[in-house]
Amino acid sequence: MATVEQLPQTHNGVAHAGEEIPVENPATGQTVGTVPDLGAAAVAEMARRARAAQPAWEAYGFDGRGRILSRAQKWLMDNSAQVIETIISETGKTFEDASLAEISYAGNAFGFWAKNAPEYLADERVKSGQLLVKGKKLVLRYRPLGLIGVIGPWNYPLTNSFGDCIPALAAGNSVILKPSEVTPLTSLLMAEGLRECGLPDDVLQIATGRGATGAALVEEVDMIMFTGSTRTGRKVAEAAARRLIPASLELGGKDPMIVLSDADLERAANFATYYAMQNAGQTCISIERVYVEEPAYEEFVAKVSDKVRALRVGAPQGPGSVEVGAITFPPQLETIEAHVADAVDKGARVLTGGHAVQSGGAGRFYEPTVLVDVDHTMKCMTEETFGPTLPIMKVSDAEEAVRLANDSPYGLGASVFSRDTARGEQIARRLEVGAANVNDAMINYTVLELPMGGAKASGLGSRHGAGGIRKYCSQQAIVITPKLALKREPHMYPYRRRTSRMLAGLFKLLYGRGDRD
Ligand code: NDP
Repeated sequence: MATVEQLPQTHNGVAHAGEEIPVENPATGQTVGTVPDLGAAAVAEMARRARAAQPAWEAYGFDGRGRILSRAQKWLMDNSAQVIETIISETGKTFEDASLAEISYAGNAFGFWAKNAPEYLADERVKSGQLLVKGKKLVLRYRPLGLIGVIGPWNYPLTNSFGDCIPALAAGNSVILKPSEVTPLTSLLMAEGLRECGLPDDVLQIATGRGATGAALVEEVDMIMFTGSTRTGRKVAEAAARRLIPASLELGGKDPMIVLSDADLERAANFATYYAMQNAGQTCISIERVYVEEPAYEEFVAKVSDKVRALRVGAPQGPGSVEVGAITFPPQLETIEAHVADAVDKGARVLTGGHAVQSGGAGRFYEPTVLVDVDHTMKCMTEETFGPTLPIMKVSDAEEAVRLANDSPYGLGASVFSRDTARGEQIARRLEVGAANVNDAMINYTVLELPMGGAKASGLGSRHGAGGIRKYCSQQAIVITPKLALKREPHMYPYRRRTSRMLAGLFKLLYGRGDRD
């Protein structure tokens, strides 16, 4: 495990005078490390060094950068036990949540961006119908923005904090990552790993600290990639707007699942259980609410309740030990308790779970919970719970399900279950979300070829796919006129009646043919 005792005292070589932040294991309550709380001056110094390092990194070219990223992929797999242990130590998640949703993501991402960056960012030769550029070479080019700031949440320290650094680096930028104060150790370990793989000094730096450190970072960088709550995302967007820098925002969600009466209910129940409880429900694209058509409701609820009741919750003791791990962020437990209490007050029934786990130890856990008789007056159906809870609502038909699914300020992901896949797809297309899965859930996140981003209050911009790396670049248009060109082009001074008339006639011929309908 990476403890900060093993890291240089000056932390990336930047002196810091501020306090140290203790990092707690939420499953045991033990302090597993401390990190510096870096202030604005330290962040500014990091930015100065990052800018100095960037041109040489850009000059490595795609091959040079790709080699280091491919080496990092191998490093991650060679050191996966240590990385998993570090993730578990600061999040309290299960071995499987660390391995499946973090190691496998980052392992794939290193290789994916090393391979695809050259293609996504290749110069594009453009053809134009514009008369005045006939015979000229037209090129669209992507150039790295320079210094990218990445700010991440605590739920996936490798996937969501560090993961966004990989395409930014592949594009030729230097990066400063500000991980959540709750989970900084994984990022520090990954930075050590990349250094071991030959990443030049200062190309990737980790700015540990609290919200103020994140705010300071936004003031220094050329672009900010933020993942976190919608509330903080708005602040980041405002600060970015003041500085006129681009911001990509991956924010909160309240993902609905729709179960039609013709669905394979066993599959649907397994998916509802897994994707609501995986990572103890602390995933932006967790299934947070379910709408079931009336004929399927009783059977679906019975299946889900049985499956959720069988889950083991507690401190992970290696592979296969528990299904549901800790609640990572202390205030999150209060939110979960408040949502369940609010639902029960308003008439919901708890079929299983419904309480924080009284383990007697210092760990923080919540029982996997199923709620029924819920409606949209309740917070559990309208606000992000981010915990191992699953409210299930009966609806009369698919129309009502679509209306309720869209009745949300959020629009991250959604899923639809039906044996009629064409109908499932039609419904998916009507959902106001960035990603919709038919007879599946959340899996779109693992498809790095597809964009992943939110609609409505769930974000702006996206990660993954061509857009997921082009956002770290500016576009440059280049127009090259061949050397054998006219000394003076026809539209230029001095204006002559005959040429002007001829050009006007030409425009009419080009753009004015045919009748208006
Ligand atoms: P927060 O918004 O509280 O924090 C996110 C990051 O921003 C943290 O590193 C935080 O630092 C930092 N921060 C806080 N204040 C500022 C500020 N003023 N300026 C810049 N940075 C700041 O989110 P959480 O960490 O609680 O993460 C949970 C949220 O993230 C959930 O809403 C979840 O849905 C969302 N999320 C979205 C994902 C997506 O892809 N759409 C993926 C994963 C999570 P510190 O922690 O030190 O306060």
